[in-house]
Amino acid sequence: MDLRLSEKEAELRRRARDFVETHLIPHELDCEADDGLSESALGGIRSAVVEWRFNAINHAVADGGRGYDLFEQMLIEEQWGRATNALWDVPWRPSIPLRYGTESQKERYLRPACRGERRDAYAITEEGAGSDPSMVTTTAVRKGDGYVLNGEKWHVTTGDVADFFLVHAHVDGDPARPTVFFVDKDAPGVRLVRTPKYMHTFVYEHPIFAFSDVALGSEAVLGSVGGGNHLTREWFVEERLMIGARTVGAATRALELSGDFAKERRQFGKVLMDFQGVGFMLADMTAEIAASQALLYRVCWQAARTEMDPKDLHALASTVKLVCSEMAGRVIDRAVQIFGGRGYMRENPVERLWRDLRVDRIWEGTSEIQRAVIGNHLRKRGPGIFGA
Ligand SMILES: Cc1cc2nc3c(=O)[nH]c(=O)nc-3n(C[C@H](O)[C@H](O)[C@H](O)COP(=O)(O)OP(=O)(O)OC[C@H]3O[C@@H](n4cnc5c(N)ncnc54)[C@H](O)[C@@H]3O)c2cc1C
Repeated sequence: MDLRLSEKEAELRRRARDFVETHLIPHELDCEADDGLSESALGGIRSAVVEWRFNAINHAVADGGRGYDLFEQMLIEEQWGRATNALWDVPWRPSIPLRYGTESQKERYLRPACRGERRDAYAITEEGAGSDPSMVTTTAVRKGDGYVLNGEKWHVTTGDVADFFLVHAHVDGDPARPTVFFVDKDAPGVRLVRTPKYMHTFVYEHPIFAFSDVALGSEAVLGSVGGGNHLTREWFVEERLMIGARTVGAATRALELSGDFAKERRQFGKVLMDFQGVGFMLADMTAEIAASQALLYRVCWQAARTEMDPKDLHALASTVKLVCSEMAGRVIDRAVQIFGGRGYMRENPVERLWRDLRVDRIWEGTSEIQRAVIGNHLRKRGPGIFGA
């Protein structure tokens, strides 16, 4: 078993680290102060994304993406997760189910999205449908050759900058026919309801959108009618692995910052590091990051380099998200504690990470839902895949 990164992988990780230091971290304080970035700052980052060849890292070269496998994507996202204010979301990664589009859907949506000319947002959640998407009440009723879409979607991440949505709806109101539709944001009947404020100060928003009698052609269906759950599950798997990557990166930055502080800050005639109460916190943080990172790397390596049953990967992706996001919450909370009053100041990256990462235990399935997925797998297939 050879656990070393290849030279190419190590170089990719170095480049991703340079990118976050050069193009994302310098914007953190402006984003915090102004609740977002100016168009010129965003334009500068977007140009750098293309220049550094970090656009659409998750899509095939034939579709205009960079063609990185899941292990390589993880190496990149782990470094980007060091940035606060979700600045890692400025480099665009079009939703993975877009690869199932027809040739004309790819020309209209995926390829421009890979180039950065268009942007998608994935809309599943509703006021009454969160952990249980079968409760979705957005309907696409058949009319002639097409559909009429009605419903309301909540927490639509990047909905402020997206120009099209992937909307998860039930055809003719039938939960047995969940289907994903392309919906252009400027289509008649699409309306911004409101843009709520959240705990964090992310670079992009999560608005609520209403869809009232939106006329869609049959070509608006992504994949097949009734195939929505399959597409959405694939999106969850990729997103859960990348949440694992980013939360490990964020926890590592919090450890480094609080460790440096503990080596310099003096109280009672000693540096904080010399108090066992602080040293033990740093030791626990280090050990927990190391264990989570080992799981993350192993699962992403298996996903990228071996043939995996999608059901096994689904359960392992839940394990990664659960372990890494819960770990990062504990680690960053200790980092805040080590900084004392300074850890509570918004100008301190650990304070921002503390707020930023809370959502990683909620979105793309809460920690309880990840446990339910793992428990379900255990019941049906046993614990085999969770070992090495
Ligand atoms: C900032 C942000 C961005 C988001 N972005 C998007 C997006 O882009 N697109 C999108 O579609 N959605 C998005 N979401 C929605 C997110 O995925 C949901 O909030 C999440 O899935 C939980 O659903 P809910 O909020 O309705 O909570 P609920 O499902 O109502 O759950 C409430 C509580 O009950 C628990 N619970 C529910 N069912 C069970 C169970 N079976 N066993 C044990 N406990 C259970 C949950 O774990 C939670 O603690 C976003 C949310 C946030 C906060």
